[in-house]
Amino acid sequence: MKVITRFAPSPTGFMHIGGVRTALFAYLFAKKNEGTLILRIEDTDQARAIEGSIQHIQDSLSWLGIDWEYGPDKPGPFGSCIQSERMDSYRAFAQKLMDAGHAYPDPYTHDEITAFRETAKAEKRPFLFRDHRPETFSVWDGKSPLRFKVPEIKRYEWNDAVRGELEAGEEALDDFILMKGDGYPTYNFAHIVDDHLMGVTHIFRADEFISSTPRFLSLYDALGVPAPVFVTLPAILRDDRTKKLGKRDGAKDVLEYKTEGYLPSAMVNYLALIGWNPGTDEEIFSKDELIQRFSVDQIQKSGGAFNEMKLKWFNREHILKLSSDEFLKHASLFLSKETYTALNKKNLLESLVPLMRERIQTFSELKDMDEAGEFSFYAEAPTYPVSGLLPKDDMDKQRTATRLKQVMSLLNTLNDSEWHDQKIKEVVWPYAEEKGRGLVLWPFRFTLSGRGKSPDPFTIAGVIGKKETITRIEDAIRALG
Ligand code: GLU
Repeated sequence: MKVITRFAPSPTGFMHIGGVRTALFAYLFAKKNEGTLILRIEDTDQARAIEGSIQHIQDSLSWLGIDWEYGPDKPGPFGSCIQSERMDSYRAFAQKLMDAGHAYPDPYTHDEITAFRETAKAEKRPFLFRDHRPETFSVWDGKSPLRFKVPEIKRYEWNDAVRGELEAGEEALDDFILMKGDGYPTYNFAHIVDDHLMGVTHIFRADEFISSTPRFLSLYDALGVPAPVFVTLPAILRDDRTKKLGKRDGAKDVLEYKTEGYLPSAMVNYLALIGWNPGTDEEIFSKDELIQRFSVDQIQKSGGAFNEMKLKWFNREHILKLSSDEFLKHASLFLSKETYTALNKKNLLESLVPLMRERIQTFSELKDMDEAGEFSFYAEAPTYPVSGLLPKDDMDKQRTATRLKQVMSLLNTLNDSEWHDQKIKEVVWPYAEEKGRGLVLWPFRFTLSGRGKSPDPFTIAGVIGKKETITRIEDAIRALG
């Protein structure tokens, strides 16, 4: 049996991590089994649809490398993947159900139903529409809601691949609406028709649908189609585990993480571990490794907490694994054009990678550093007030110039091939120790960066090269008179 899974978001706004995690699990399972993932847009609640959401959903999944075989951009052999473009199928199945006596037009007005509901409440019993089912069914005009006639009021037992054996009694069954007064099908009806027509074998979804499952099962029964395997994912909880993660607790648009400089690989890695357990202590996985390792058996029943600090930690681990080229590809999106071009022109990007890499958890930190001027002095000699060159403990220009001259002659003992931070430190360090570190290293560093705070002078000198280092020191000595 070929595995077919689907991710079926409603286009009602941005995708947050809960939705993405569902998509990821459906994707990992499909890939692992050489199956298919369908991206289906459930837009039958037209009042809730938000313009631009479909594109946003696709952008979010594409960013994470969760790709689908059929989607809003690629119809399948079963037609469109957008529910509002599949209306003929719902009408056909509604007709089938009517023909079999399993569906009937709702004869009541809104006020009448409200009255039924209130009476039930006053009598302290649950309101069930099936208690008011008309004796004879009229012909459906397509304008009133069409209701499902539950074929049999009975107890349902079913198996959930994660939760195990579940059951619910008659109270969970009712004559729910199949087609609404506005002509669109309900979620309850449309998803079952689509899953059937699309050949879906496994449904990955959130736990809020468990209580509706008996209704779904009664509809599968009426249609005479087998239910797919239900794979109910554990909730994503707030970090303090007191409740489900909501928008107010930081369940934000997943593309915001892109803007903040998270790597898609880190996001995928972290989300996979919320509710799924690899069975070992390992934590760092690439997407391909996750595909290899993924199994439904290791999805947890209980909720998993989302913690942004932990996500940051994963991001750092993934940043450490990037090749220099990959690192620069991401960095280029966060450095200003001017900085990037200037560094690139002088061939300094590559040598700055270790320095950048060691200082960030997310790429947007590079942007902050760039804006604070922390990269500009590499490509361009800094301008500074001469007084800045003088160490606090000895503000004498003459002596500072003498020390810089000594540093310069020590540096001149190194040839180009020996020019790297370790070696530079080796030749300058004994002199700094002898004269007082601050007295020697402060002017040396300030000469190169023009800033009160910057990496140490050996690192900067190593990056900008011998020629540029010597030139900057010469200029400083001249400025000191
Ligand atoms: N459209 C539903 C939602 O966004 C999908 C539920 C399902 O996967 O069946 O929650």
